[in-house]
This record gives sequence, structure tokens and C-alpha cells, in this order.
Amino acid sequence: MVTLEEPIKQVLPLKNFVSGEWKESRGELVNIVNPATQKVIAKNPMSTREELNEAVEAAKEAFPAWRRTPPLSRARLLFTMKEIMEERFEELSRIQTMEHGKTIDESRGETRRGIEQVEVATGIPSLMMGYNLEDIASGIDEYLIRQPLGVFGIIAPFNFPFMVPLWYAPYAVATGNCIVLKPSDFCPISQTKVAEIAEEAGFPAGVWNVVNGGRDVVSAMLDHPDITGICFVGSTRVGRDVVYRRCGETGKKVLAQCGAKNFMLVMPDANLDRTIAASMTSFFGNTGQRCLSNANLIPVGEGLSKKEYENFYQKVVDAFVNTASKIRVGYGLDESIQMGPLRDTDKKQRVLGYIEKGLEEGAEMIFDGREVKIIGDWPPDAFLNPTVFKNVSPEMTISKEEIFGPVASIMRAKSLDEAIDLIHSNPYGNAASIFTSNGRWARDFQYRVQCGNIGINIGIAAPMAFFPFSGMKDSFFGTLHGQGREAVRFFTESKVVIQRWF
Ligand code: NAD
Repeated sequence: MVTLEEPIKQVLPLKNFVSGEWKESRGELVNIVNPATQKVIAKNPMSTREELNEAVEAAKEAFPAWRRTPPLSRARLLFTMKEIMEERFEELSRIQTMEHGKTIDESRGETRRGIEQVEVATGIPSLMMGYNLEDIASGIDEYLIRQPLGVFGIIAPFNFPFMVPLWYAPYAVATGNCIVLKPSDFCPISQTKVAEIAEEAGFPAGVWNVVNGGRDVVSAMLDHPDITGICFVGSTRVGRDVVYRRCGETGKKVLAQCGAKNFMLVMPDANLDRTIAASMTSFFGNTGQRCLSNANLIPVGEGLSKKEYENFYQKVVDAFVNTASKIRVGYGLDESIQMGPLRDTDKKQRVLGYIEKGLEEGAEMIFDGREVKIIGDWPPDAFLNPTVFKNVSPEMTISKEEIFGPVASIMRAKSLDEAIDLIHSNPYGNAASIFTSNGRWARDFQYRVQCGNIGINIGIAAPMAFFPFSGMKDSFFGTLHGQGREAVRFFTESKVVIQRWF
């Protein structure tokens, strides 16, 4: 039996971080269970509206001094934060595996991607600069400056508990705003650790606040008149119907990155070995709980006869299912594991419901992940193996809705046009990938597909920290996106000054 080093050794009583102090919440405590071992690892408070109001008050109070702090000094705190994160890299990664279930390699990738956001935000003295022009009329100059706005609320999903809030928080504070962050109620531990690091780095009291909880905290944030803007990541149901709508009503700045249903096209000239290897991490990485996961695989018959297409389709199906069936499932802290459990038994039940629906609606199951086979002696409660369906048609629920689990649907398209039509028939527009050696097909795909993140021979089209994390249609509501320069614009207002001296 491999010994697995677990950084959480006893149940963590989570607190809120408000005005530079760790405060016990008055709200009810909810158990946070490690999905692989089913052991309780933390108790998370469902904070009250009053507690959220206290945090907003603290942030509002901290704002005037913080916005006057020179950008270079603000950036220095982020440099320190990055250093501490590097020192605690392995611990931070292991905590993600314990609270979410992902493999340790996936957690290390998440930690790296989170730190990269902090690194990019340290460039704030340059990133935040405006621009100017002399003599817009004789003797008159004009310039644009960017100013922070006050207090921002950040609302996080469960699937990247460390990284996603860092798509926003470093840019928000670097630009001189203060934040109130609500971690996912399922995976709150990582953001407690990040706040500890912000505290150690020396952020002044009230700049970085964390209030744990659920929908009550969100609704208090949306109502609060002193919150200027909201960054939300989560489902379309909440992002569009609750957050975006309410921010419109209350006049808050908002960006809402929402749900997804992504397609991966395999053209006849694709390098099949590399395509299948990339598809495994894309479909089953993070146990399918990733907004950039591909979920529908389409071998495309562009230029092939009917018979050639049948051979090609079968070849892709065989290679895909053979590789998927060998994925090693178990506790992610074991280095040999390739896929961890789902976040919890409820989320597994939801995925099982979709599998049943697929069978009812006539999809052909070619690999059944319900017969759970795991490495190690762990309770099977939240585990599923990869599941693969073929001959999935566009009318079937499993091809349309976000399953958010390790379920792949293999569909058919005779041509690139038909495949792109299938992508466009879906209401989401988060990501799409094409695997091909043909530059013209790739360009056509990039040009026409209405999705915010495009992969060309890339299975997970995750933008780096210095590019915006995009998204279209039902996957994104707002104007400016998270990360990099767009985040800097989101967290600032442009002010134009026109001056003349007599
Ligand atoms: P979720 O919508 O259930 O929860 C997101 C946040 O909203 C949580 O903090 C939660 O406490 C809060 N919330 C939940 N229900 C609420 C309600 N009724 N009123 C107010 N607040 C509420 O999402 P999740 O299950 O945590 O995350 C998975 C979803 O996030 C998937 O749909 C996934 O595609 C999406 N996601 C999108 C991106 C992206 O960049 N587009 C990135 C990561 C995850």
C-alpha cells in the first residue's frame, strides 16, 4: 500500500477572513468530505448576510488608502504572495486533491496556473497605464487614466478551487480595489490557504476578505449597494438567471463565466495517436468536471466516401474506447492514478442520471463506467470510471446538456460544415477543438466557430494568464473577460482628462 501524504491531518474549522482577522462565523457548519476517502476534512460555515455586510464594510474602509498605495508597492505584495505560493506549492496542490478529488498532477497544474495569474498581475504598473495625446486642439492635451472602482465580489465554482478565484483577485487588488471572495461551498479550503498567504504577504486589513457560505452570501453580495462589481464563475443557471440578471437590476459591473458543452472534431488527416492521447485528458481530466473539457467527439468524414467514413469512424471509436478503458481510477494523491472521483455522491448521481438518459434515448454504450473499478481500497461512493457512448445523435440529451462528468458521446458528421452546424446547434459557446493536418480546415474552423476558446490540435484550449479567458453564447455573460489586460480593464474605469493652461 502506497503511503499518501495528506497535508490536512485533522478536521479544519474554517473561518472567515475579514478586516485582516480570522473570524468564527455565526452560520451553520457543513462537513467537507474528501471524495476519495469519504472522511470529513473541514467544517465550512454558511455565513450570514450580516457577516457579508461586515466584510463589505471592511473592504470599503480599506479602499481609500489602498487606492492611494502606489501600483509598484501593490505589485510588491503580489511578488511576495507568489514566493510564498511557490514555497507551499506541494501543500497547496495536495489540498486541492483532498478537497476536490482531482489527481495530484492535475492539482499541480492548477497551482501553477493560479500562480501565473499572480505573476501577470505583478506587471500592474505597466498594465494599468492609460494613454495621451498632445495638441488635440491647439494648446490642449488629452489623456486617459484608469482608476479603481471600490469593492468587488468574487463568486467561485467548485471545480478549480485554487485557480479560478485567481483569475480575478490578483488583478482586482493590483488595480487598487478591495475584494470580498466567496469560495465554493463544496471546496472552500484552498481559498482559506490563499487568504493566509495574502495575510502573510502583508496586504493591509480589509483589502482581501473571504466569506464562506452558499447562496445567501451570493444574494447578499448582489444586493449590497457598496459592491461595485461581481465576477462569477459557475453554472449558466446561476450565472445568467441569478447573477447577471440581478447585477443588471442593481447596476453592477459584471462578468459571468458559465457552463459549457464542448465539441472535438477529428478530421481524417489527424495524427490519430496524438489526437487520442490529447482527447483522454480533455474528456476525462479533472473527472470531466472542467468547463473546457470536450464532451462530444466527432470523427468528421470530409472528403471520404461512405465506406471510407465507416472505417475511419470505427478506427477513432476503437482507439478512443481502448485508451479510455485503461485509465487508472483511484485516490488522486497516488501518483499512478489518472482519474480521481467526482466531487461528491450527489454529483455522481447527477452523472448517473445522464447515463440512464443516454441509454433510454437509444445511444449505444460501448464502455460502462458504472461498474466502478478503482485502484486501492477506497469507498466507491463518489467514483465512476469513464463511460463512452457511440452513435449519439444531436437530439439526445447527453449530446446537448452539460454532464460535468467522465462521459463521452461520439457523434457523426459527414463534412466539416455539418460538424460546425452541430456545434452551433448547441446553446453553449465555451470551447471547441479540431484535430487535423490541414491548415485550411483549421483556419475555417477558427474563423467560423462561435466559441470563445479554440483548440487547434489542442484538447483543452485554456488561455494563459496574459490572454483573456473567453466564452460566448450561454457560456459567458458580460463584456470584458477575466485574466490579463481584459481583467485590468474590468477592474478599472477609464477617465479622460482634457486640459488647457491659459
Ligand atoms: P454553481 O453555479 O452551482 O455554483 C457557483 C457558485 O454560485 C457557488 O459559489 C455557489 O455557492 C453559488 N450558487 C449556487 N447556487 C446558487 C443560487 N441559486 N443563488 C446564488 N448563488 C448560488 O456551479 P458549480 O457547480 O460550483 O461549478 C460548475 C459549473 O461552473 C459548470 O457549469 C462549469 O461549466 C462552470 N464553470 C465555468 C467556467 C468558465 O470559465 N466558463 C470555469 C469553471 C467552471
